[in-house]
Amino acid sequence: MPEHDVLIIGAGLAGQRAALAAAQAGASVAIMSKVHPVRSHSVAAAGGINAAISLDDDWRSHAFDTVKGSDFLGDQDAIEVMCSEAPGEVMHLEHMGVTFHRNEKGEMDLRAFGGASMKRTAYVADITGQALLHVLYEQLMKHHEQVERYEEWFTTSLLIDDAGRCVGVIARDVRSGRMESFLAKNVILACGGAGQAYKPTTNGLIVTGDGIALAYRAGAPLMDMEMVQYHPTCLVESGILITEGARGEGAHLLNANGERFMEKSAPNKMELASRDVVSRAEQIEINEGRGVGPNKAGIYLDVTVVPRKRTLEALREIVNLGRDFAGVDITREPIMIRPGQHYIMGGVKTDIDGRTPIDGLYAAGEVACVSVHGGNRLGANSLLDTLIFGRRAGEHAAARSASMPMPALNTVSRVQADEAGIDAIVRREKGGRRVSEIKDELGETMNRYAAVFRDEQGLQSARETVARLKEEAGSAWIDDRGTVFNQDVLGALELSYMLDCAEAIVLGAIERKESRGAQFRTDYAERDDENWLKHINITATADGPKVSYSPVNITQWEPEERKY
Ligand SMILES: Cc1cc2nc3c(=O)[nH]c(=O)nc-3n(C[C@H](O)[C@H](O)[C@H](O)COP(=O)(O)OP(=O)(O)OC[C@H]3O[C@@H](n4cnc5c(N)ncnc54)[C@H](O)[C@@H]3O)c2cc1C
Repeated sequence: MPEHDVLIIGAGLAGQRAALAAAQAGASVAIMSKVHPVRSHSVAAAGGINAAISLDDDWRSHAFDTVKGSDFLGDQDAIEVMCSEAPGEVMHLEHMGVTFHRNEKGEMDLRAFGGASMKRTAYVADITGQALLHVLYEQLMKHHEQVERYEEWFTTSLLIDDAGRCVGVIARDVRSGRMESFLAKNVILACGGAGQAYKPTTNGLIVTGDGIALAYRAGAPLMDMEMVQYHPTCLVESGILITEGARGEGAHLLNANGERFMEKSAPNKMELASRDVVSRAEQIEINEGRGVGPNKAGIYLDVTVVPRKRTLEALREIVNLGRDFAGVDITREPIMIRPGQHYIMGGVKTDIDGRTPIDGLYAAGEVACVSVHGGNRLGANSLLDTLIFGRRAGEHAAARSASMPMPALNTVSRVQADEAGIDAIVRREKGGRRVSEIKDELGETMNRYAAVFRDEQGLQSARETVARLKEEAGSAWIDDRGTVFNQDVLGALELSYMLDCAEAIVLGAIERKESRGAQFRTDYAERDDENWLKHINITATADGPKVSYSPVNITQWEPEERKY
């Protein structure tokens, strides 16, 4: 049975950064991913990464913008860590080989992003995630003697020993269908978000909440799950993302009357208010009949106001996306967009070193909730979060490994149990619903009731639907009965993970009887600091999910009214 000091599940930015840090600290490391690492969703990140590197900037300003963006739900001690360590991390990445865009003076160029009080976003055209991920992948190759790779291995459960410690995982080799157990002194979950629980979403097909559900099933609390980010500029049909970089470069949002309607809700920041504010403003225009296109369901994003040369240089990927997926040349005409599911602020509750309350289990990146994003994440703060807390988790886990023996556990019966679970899925008779049908209904339900605007009635209806879909998923059938690259069977497992995430999102949203950040309750339209300046935690118990609260950590910024 393979044994490692630090076993990382997920090879996006958080996982690879954790692996690099743990290897550099001398640990024996393994990194597991259900797809080839450079196909992780991090590769799709476009707009950039925030850091106060400009001489007239200060990390405290970045931290305050982040706190304000979070609608004061973010934990300020964690935000201070992230923002103060950001400049060093970005410079380190550049030294490792990331070719950040430079201005005419040869300095690192910075672009404007939503909710930021100054230009603070470093970028590589609009392929920043790809640039970062490939550099980290190359850097990890240098440590090949210390870092084992399990590429195209799918984790099915966490190994928890009798003392309640996490001591490894069980996984399936996607290529052969073989199941195996892996022992580790520490496991770091870096499995990304859960966007596929919504339809449409900007997230890749593999972003199915596996890590969140695995930790939840093992007893770890989930925090801030009700906080789901809708990005203001997604293509109307497909949900494909048009980066915030477009508005950062100066693009306008227009309603059917040609008005820049952001004047009403954010007269100072206009299109560059934070994402929750812009998405709500767009949804109001659509709901009140001032939308554009079929069913007036869209809003115009007008990139033609940006000089064409600049668009072709700095936004070339969305020029391609507009042409290929909407038939629009964004350098010559406006493109139709609307708010779409993009990111989940919530996740597995951790401290600033990535530790969950389960001994030996860490989480970092979108799977985790430190909480640095609170009620609403600022654009370009997620790449930063993955790298800072990925590194910190890797370092902490490596240090912890140095002073402990390799755990021992007989895993035979656990591997058999997971194998039996998969065999049962493969053997299901046709008759019930297909996995894909259930997934579609889940996504449409969440997008209807747990979206930009929410209310009690809609959320209760979502809760009932999710409960019914959980039942139906228990007998849902698949076509592929083979062992080699059986994506069908993995899809059934992913569906069960998404359903767990959806359940927690809806529960949290029902529980929070106020409007803050991404959670806007039409039946509780005000922010209510007196009762709700606290995190909601959801823990799985034998009697079903249990809700509890934890305090928001406030260091230097007292909550105040949020205006843009
Ligand atoms: C289109 C798009 C554009 C974005 N643009 C930006 C941006 O410009 N700036 C910004 O800050 N943020 C951006 N974001 C958000 C940001 O990219 C993500 O939050 C971040 O990259 C998540 O990184 P991660 O390492 O946590 O997870 P991911 O990159 O999603 O990686 C998850 C990893 O976990 C593995 N995994 C998952 N489940 C299993 C399992 N069961 N078994 C084994 N392996 C598993 C996957 O294979 C993968 O390797 C964007 C997001 C999207 C969708």
